[in-house]
Amino acid sequence: MNKIINLFLAMFFPERCPYCSKVIEFNKIACDNCIKKFPETYSINRVIGGYPCVSPFFYQGIFADAVKRFKFQEYTKSSDKLARVVCDSIRKRYNTDEIDIITYVPMHPKKQKKRGFNQSELLAKDISKELNIPCKNLLIKVKNNNEQHKCASPAKRRDNVRDAYKAVKDETIKGKTILIIDDILTTGYTLGECAKTIEKYTDSTILCATVCAKNNIYT
Ligand SMILES: [Zn+2]
Repeated sequence: MNKIINLFLAMFFPERCPYCSKVIEFNKIACDNCIKKFPETYSINRVIGGYPCVSPFFYQGIFADAVKRFKFQEYTKSSDKLARVVCDSIRKRYNTDEIDIITYVPMHPKKQKKRGFNQSELLAKDISKELNIPCKNLLIKVKNNNEQHKCASPAKRRDNVRDAYKAVKDETIKGKTILIIDDILTTGYTLGECAKTIEKYTDSTILCATVCAKNNIYT
């Protein structure tokens, strides 16, 4: 029965490779050609504040295309496929038994209304399902600042995100290990600010993961 439903879905809503848009079989994460281009190892960085961040890809070529298509062309069906690759690098780098909660970098409500979705939230929810770890919204974006990629210099990015987030008050998250998800790691200021805000409130251990990293920063 499931096979028939899947065939029906594939006919009318074909699954596409997130990296090149080619139609792929149901339940595959990418086409064979793109899978061959996946790096053998992941990148590990430290975001501002020293919190570790693992990313399966560098932000270049087909991997940058996949994130852009997902984020700006609203190809949200990529989320679970990208999430599965992020999960592989999370499993390789962290002990998933020790992660209590998954969360994400929030968007300002006005921006989210305009885009219609928060790509980091979609990824975090798919990663949560795959790793069987609960996903919670732990942050509120209180500053409707410019998008980080529109800030020309690292100094501007730092000032842009300063005090941009507030922690959601939740006593149950204190002293836990929390994994924060975002789509791209650029200078590490956004994730660093989110990590600092949660850590200050919860005294938790903070880990981070993204789909792509722009550079090897502060390793
Ligand atoms: Zn492909």
